[in-house]
Amino acid sequence: MRKPLLTPWFPAAALLAVGVSVLAPNTSAQQIDWPKVNDEAMRNYQSLVQIDSTATEAGVAQFVKKTLEAEGIQVSMVARDPARPNIIARIKGNGTKKPFLIMGHSDTVKIDLSKWTFPPFSATRSGGYVYGRGTLDDKSNLFAAMMTMVLLQRTHARLDRDVIFVSEAGEEGGSNMGIGYLVSEHFPEIEAEACLAEGGGVIRRGGVARFATVQTMEKIPSGARLVARGPSGHGSRPTRGNAIAHLSDAVAKIAYWDPPMRLNDTTRTYFEKLAQVSEPADAARFRDLLDPARSAAVREYLAINEPATYSMLHTSISPNIIQGGFQSNVIPSEATATLDIRALPDENMPAFYELMRKVINDPAVEIVPNASRGRVAGPPVSISSDVYKALEASFKSVYGVPTLPLMGTGATDMSQLRPRGVQCYGVGAARDDEDVLKGFGAHSDQERMPEESVAKHLQFYWLTVTSVAGAKF
Ligand SMILES: [Zn+2]
Repeated sequence: MRKPLLTPWFPAAALLAVGVSVLAPNTSAQQIDWPKVNDEAMRNYQSLVQIDSTATEAGVAQFVKKTLEAEGIQVSMVARDPARPNIIARIKGNGTKKPFLIMGHSDTVKIDLSKWTFPPFSATRSGGYVYGRGTLDDKSNLFAAMMTMVLLQRTHARLDRDVIFVSEAGEEGGSNMGIGYLVSEHFPEIEAEACLAEGGGVIRRGGVARFATVQTMEKIPSGARLVARGPSGHGSRPTRGNAIAHLSDAVAKIAYWDPPMRLNDTTRTYFEKLAQVSEPADAARFRDLLDPARSAAVREYLAINEPATYSMLHTSISPNIIQGGFQSNVIPSEATATLDIRALPDENMPAFYELMRKVINDPAVEIVPNASRGRVAGPPVSISSDVYKALEASFKSVYGVPTLPLMGTGATDMSQLRPRGVQCYGVGAARDDEDVLKGFGAHSDQERMPEESVAKHLQFYWLTVTSVAGAKF
């Protein structure tokens, strides 16, 4: 029924031809029976998806521990709460270079059972996809990192640096059980020069891989509230000072505002390269973005049609909660709106609030920034490092696509590692761009990953880790 997903392992010459400068000679591909490994990878991937980890990661942690220990890899299970364990494992290198960390998170977001065609923890294979919660986010990275450890161990890979593996708990909605705990209590065990985590991936359109993204920086959540105040009174005598009316006005102004566009190295490269791989109309649009005479019209187009792209252009504001009033015949004296502000990493927030104040232009409305600025993002990682080059070469080799550096608009766990000096790159498996609108994306009502992504993502992961960590001689 199932076609073999992989062509045989690439000959070394092919890899060299696509720019993988250094192979790991002793992670000899010949030692690996890829069709067999791919079947094993699919089984492990399905097993991970079949373990419900919406409330506790214990089942996944046990599975990962058992799989690694069966290969003779030493594993430590560490937890702030025994029901929320993390797994750390390490394969030693010769210490010439600092360690390389590979990680995936073991929890998933919750499910609404009524929305699923195939049971959410069945990992059903149908029509070229694997269905289930976590198939994309993030059991795709978790299985690939785990299988890479298995293969490094089995092939007795000679490494210039340790490869550290982390199966991380509690990524979805708070990091207290996962990366926050690991960074504060177990940092020496996970400290690395560079790391791979989630946040990028290969975009397929019409079933064909078009380009890959690597997340190299991310925006910083930095919320605020708008508070409107006015005289309270009897609802039968409307006032021009009505706090709700002032707030509504301010919310509309700020929501439709086009904040100043500012590109950085990552986003500039992203749009330049995106233009190269896009259809002509889209390509023209991305180029026009940089043309002062045409930029405003493109931004308006993106605001309406491509909100995710639009958000990369500037610090963004989304009003997400609105509160005011308590009785239908009482004019309230106060109304508030909660804003989700996602700041460019180098945004000067006091100056940005000042701009907002000018846009709102209403003394009855106060901007109250959140006390803390949320997570600290850390500096962007280099897009000319050896690790980035290895990622580019691996994507090219496995999928035949170019790599675009990406600024994530959402926050990830990498924001906790980058400030500690770990050069984190966000990667991911191939998924269908169309699936986001069809409701099969990460966090959607249903979730699925193309079946062929299982073998290809492992290939990509293996190639990257062996080029970054393999012994060079
Ligand atoms: Zn995730």
